[in-house]
Amino acid sequence: MPGYAIGGVAVGEGFEQLKKVVRHTAPQLPADKPRYLMGVGYERDILVAVQAGVDMFDCVLPTRNARNANAFTPTGQMRLRNAGFARDGSVIDPACDCAACGGGFSRSYLRHLFMAKEMLGPILVSLHNLRHFQRFLLDIRRAIADNGWSLVTERWPVASE
Ligand SMILES: [Zn+2]
Repeated sequence: MPGYAIGGVAVGEGFEQLKKVVRHTAPQLPADKPRYLMGVGYERDILVAVQAGVDMFDCVLPTRNARNANAFTPTGQMRLRNAGFARDGSVIDPACDCAACGGGFSRSYLRHLFMAKEMLGPILVSLHNLRHFQRFLLDIRRAIADNGWSLVTERWPVASE
């Protein structure tokens, strides 16, 4: 086979079950073929799977959560509809270089877009969430290359178990 998929842990099994299945299954698949974990997931799920030997992922979370005004950050999700953001002039994540954060779109403006049902809100938060996971996986690639996993756990507390 050109690659191998692992499925069945992305429909409500929970973190402990995912960890158990992935740590058991991934090492038994050929090391020279891509291993793909279907429909996963949150940052800590991805980190556990990569450390077990998984190479690829796909997931709706970044865009589905963005459509519901939930922005991913290194310390957890931010619910932009919350009233607390009504006067928050900071961007979602100052360390992020996405179109929303790098473009200077504030949390209060993003909240306004969602409250007004403006399509630009879900678009900007989707761009942010996708970039969030790209940046997370870039750090994971660096950690693999340098065998330096402390970088990931320091910069991405949300991925800690
Ligand atoms: Zn961003």
